[in-house]
Amino acid sequence: MEPVPIHMKFDIEKIRADFPILNRKINGAPLVYLDNAATSQTPQQVIDTIVEYYSEYNANIHRGVHSLSQEATERYEGARKIIQNHINALSDHEIIFTSGTTHGINIVANGFSSILKAEDEIIISALEHHSNIVPWQMMCEQTGSRLRVLPMNDSGVLNLDEYRDMLNPKTRLVLVDHVSNALGTINPIKEIIELAHQTGAAVLVDGAQACPHLVPDMQDLDVDFYVLSGHKVCGPTGIGVLYGKEKWLNSLPPYQGGGEMISEVTFEKTTYADLPHKFEAGTPNVCGAIALGRAIDYMNDIGFDNIFQYEEQLLSYASSKLNSIEGMRIYGPPSNKAAVISFNIDGIHPYDIGTILDKLGIAVRTGHHCAQPIMDYYNIPGTVRASFAFYNTQEEVDRFVNAVIRAKSMLS
Ligand SMILES: *Cc1c(COP(=O)(O)O)cnc(C)c1O
Repeated sequence: MEPVPIHMKFDIEKIRADFPILNRKINGAPLVYLDNAATSQTPQQVIDTIVEYYSEYNANIHRGVHSLSQEATERYEGARKIIQNHINALSDHEIIFTSGTTHGINIVANGFSSILKAEDEIIISALEHHSNIVPWQMMCEQTGSRLRVLPMNDSGVLNLDEYRDMLNPKTRLVLVDHVSNALGTINPIKEIIELAHQTGAAVLVDGAQACPHLVPDMQDLDVDFYVLSGHKVCGPTGIGVLYGKEKWLNSLPPYQGGGEMISEVTFEKTTYADLPHKFEAGTPNVCGAIALGRAIDYMNDIGFDNIFQYEEQLLSYASSKLNSIEGMRIYGPPSNKAAVISFNIDGIHPYDIGTILDKLGIAVRTGHHCAQPIMDYYNIPGTVRASFAFYNTQEEVDRFVNAVIRAKSMLS
């Protein structure tokens, strides 16, 4: 097949030079990192921000009169502003720093466990990551509320007709991911949110897999809760964001008690601090939040439109090359898809392909991708998943596809 030239509005070599890890060799071969949906790599600018924090102004925030504490507080709150502007939240106190998507979902699920009743219903999409399933099952066990699954079709697309039928006045919450980490499906969340609001239900969107590729606009979407993880958008691990509409965050009880989240404490009674501190008990990940702000700035400098267009070309190039391999099955929709390819080859276990690819320096994910219900739907143990980022290249796709062909010939 003739390689179609891939166009980009940025200097890919300059960008790759920002990522020291891309120089690594794995099993003697240059690393081809295609596990971006599990965690993204970190540019030098973000690494420098982390080093700078610990070398120059490491201090606890919000409570010190001394200069270092004030500097750290300013940078931490500055990061909150960066996130607020990035996702277009109305106020910076609608931005709660968490340890990641999982933590953010648990804050909301815990809050709803004191609001929901046995007769209430929750709709959950068939495309969810375990971290947007299990907290809600735990909550339903406490409240007795009913979890109803919004089904998908063979292409991994949610059935909106069925969704319309499922929505009713008892529906209190709808849970859906913006982009599926297992299949890459971009869900029509704006429509899903609009329909939910018509019956008075709130919506939590898991944005962990969307934020590496696109910018969610909280006002345009009118979403009630949106969660994301720093380590998937070129930031460090252990930091994430929960966005919530102010009225919701005010009405939910705090998740954890401790320092920072109180207004006044006596042994008789404690009053809680205002937002966002009510949900940030204890010393937060100060350095992580500041580094996440730097990562978002870094990606915005490249431009999310540029990133999306470039990744879309990598995706379609890789998909068409893979599709010419006999016995190849790619799961997920043919369009409206983020740069994720989940596949199997007839008669070969995904784990075996992953192992051979690793020997050739290529990092992919194999298994159920924390989305076992999706694997059950297709009646498979798992898939091989290659997920792309803006720092991947066309040559890397070629190396990956050639390695898959080689693995196939070794295994069949
Ligand atoms: C990665 C991911 C999560 C979990 O994120 P953590 O950072 O592990 O908390 C949840 N949902 C989706 C769609 C993901 O891709």
